[in-house]
Amino acid sequence: MPLKVLKICRYCGGVIRLVPAAAIYGTAAAKRLELEQEWIYQCQNCNARVGCHKGTTRPLGDVANESLRLKRIETHRVFDSFWRSRRMTRSQGYRWLSAQMGLSKRRTHIGGFEMDQCQQVIDLCTNFNEEEAA
Ligand SMILES: [Zn+2]
Repeated sequence: MPLKVLKICRYCGGVIRLVPAAAIYGTAAAKRLELEQEWIYQCQNCNARVGCHKGTTRPLGDVANESLRLKRIETHRVFDSFWRSRRMTRSQGYRWLSAQMGLSKRRTHIGGFEMDQCQQVIDLCTNFNEEEAA
C-alpha cells in the first residue's frame, strides 16, 4: 500500500510543503538532534507536521497537530525507556513492537502513529511491565 501523498493539511486544508528540518528547528538544534539531513512535511498555515524516514522524503505518517505531536513525544519516551530497561537494543525493541501491534517493521514508526496507536504502545509497555512485576 503506497503512503498517502501529503499535499493538503488534514486539519485546516492548508498547503503542506517539504522543508529541511533545520528550517524548523534551527541549524544548531537540527545538528544536535542529528536531523541536519532530514526533511519535514509542514502545513504552511497551521504548522501541523511530520518527519520522514531517515535520509528520505518519505513521510512517517500523516501530519500531526500540537496535541498529536505531544502524544508522539510522550509515546517515544515511554517506549524508549521500556526497551532500555529491558536491555534490548533499539531494533529489538522495534521488532517486539511490530509483532505486538501486527504491523510491518516499515510501518512501525511512532513518529507516524495516530492517537490510538500511540495509546496502544503506551498500554503495551505499561501492561508488559506490570505483568513482569506481578
Ligand atoms: Zn494545517
